[in-house]
Amino acid sequence: MYKKITLYIVRLSYNGTIHDSAPCKDCTKTLQQLGIKRIVYSNNDGDLTSCKMHEYIPKSSSLGRRFIESDFQLGKIPKKKSETPEQGEKPEQGETLKQSKQSKQAKKCKQKK
Ligand SMILES: [Zn+2]
Repeated sequence: MYKKITLYIVRLSYNGTIHDSAPCKDCTKTLQQLGIKRIVYSNNDGDLTSCKMHEYIPKSSSLGRRFIESDFQLGKIPKKKSETPEQGEKPEQGETLKQSKQSKQAKKCKQKK
């Protein structure tokens, strides 16, 4: 149905910098089911990576998925706002888990400058 579609995905932080927006496992499954042809997504270097959907290998589960799979024990979920008002939880928490795997993924897809 969406065989001619190239999906552009960009993730911006609250201060406007570009971050990794590579789809997670669940999104990848959905995108493949939809038949999306190609995706272009941003990475933490501010570059865009172009990748054919059928060649794309998701490197991460989403934070929500990890939370479920850890039986809701994942300590990284910032849900204690009222208890730690000074800590200023950042949305990037939990992202560090997948940082190490990112370089591998980048090699599989062509970098667009
Ligand atoms: Zn996702």
